[in-house]
Amino acid sequence: MSRKKEDFKDYTVYGIDSIDSDIFDRQKRIKGWDQSKISNATVMVIGAGAIGNEVIKNLVLTGIGNIILIDYDFINTSNLNRCILFNVENAQQKEYKVDAIKDACKKLNPNVEIITVKNDLNDIDKAFYEKSDVICSCVDNIEARLEANNYAFYYEIPFVDSGIDELFGSVQSVYSEIKDAACLQCNVSDMDLDLMWKKFSCTGQEVESKNGETMGIIPAIITTTSIIGGLQSQQVLKFILGIDYFKEHNKWNPHIGPPLIGKQLNYNGLLNKFEVIEKLKNPECWTCSFKKIIY
Ligand SMILES: [Zn+2]
Repeated sequence: MSRKKEDFKDYTVYGIDSIDSDIFDRQKRIKGWDQSKISNATVMVIGAGAIGNEVIKNLVLTGIGNIILIDYDFINTSNLNRCILFNVENAQQKEYKVDAIKDACKKLNPNVEIITVKNDLNDIDKAFYEKSDVICSCVDNIEARLEANNYAFYYEIPFVDSGIDELFGSVQSVYSEIKDAACLQCNVSDMDLDLMWKKFSCTGQEVESKNGETMGIIPAIITTTSIIGGLQSQQVLKFILGIDYFKEHNKWNPHIGPPLIGKQLNYNGLLNKFEVIEKLKNPECWTCSFKKIIY
């Protein structure tokens, strides 16, 4: 049976040019996608190292409008095996990580606004928290991770954390509105705290033991970093695309899906496995059970 012109009256026919001239055309085809939410969003990224590179690259290519990037470190040659936004020249000139990322991102998407902050997390302008829709922690130590968790909880901003070690990695989200879900601080043991203070009682530099092994530097490779950075970015997008729907309906948009709130997604590159584990809320947690005052 042949079709008549009126059979297609409910369809809009795009020319090839209009489809291929829109940078975001392919992602706009995802059900539940709203590009205006993405381009109006502000994401705070704490840590401009390997995972920070991956997360920022993903956010910029997705069209995130504003990024507040926090890191006071310089680029070293040893960063170059896993940082897509750094180059050899950046390392030779010992540029700030945040400056090199800002320059590289302008080439990926000239419309992105990146505010660079070369300060410790505790010393940043608190107004940055109020501007942020999501906070992403891409740091390499427990202390900074817990600080970020604490600030995010205090300012009631969705928070996504990640960590890597060799062929292993994990991602976890925290959102203060979900009262029965664990935050990062909930599952910190006394042993973790003990290790944390021992580590930070020294200079933070690499330490060599008697048998020649080095400690204090986490083994890292781009394959693990990009997997974990991808998962973390996906969590950020879920919050940005889904939070209005959640506030209105008290459930997550079925097309976007729920973030990993109170859960941890673990990647095991040795055994090629992913698993999601539920994190238990600690009723004595000083961050989420007794909202800590921040001065
Ligand atoms: Zn907690």
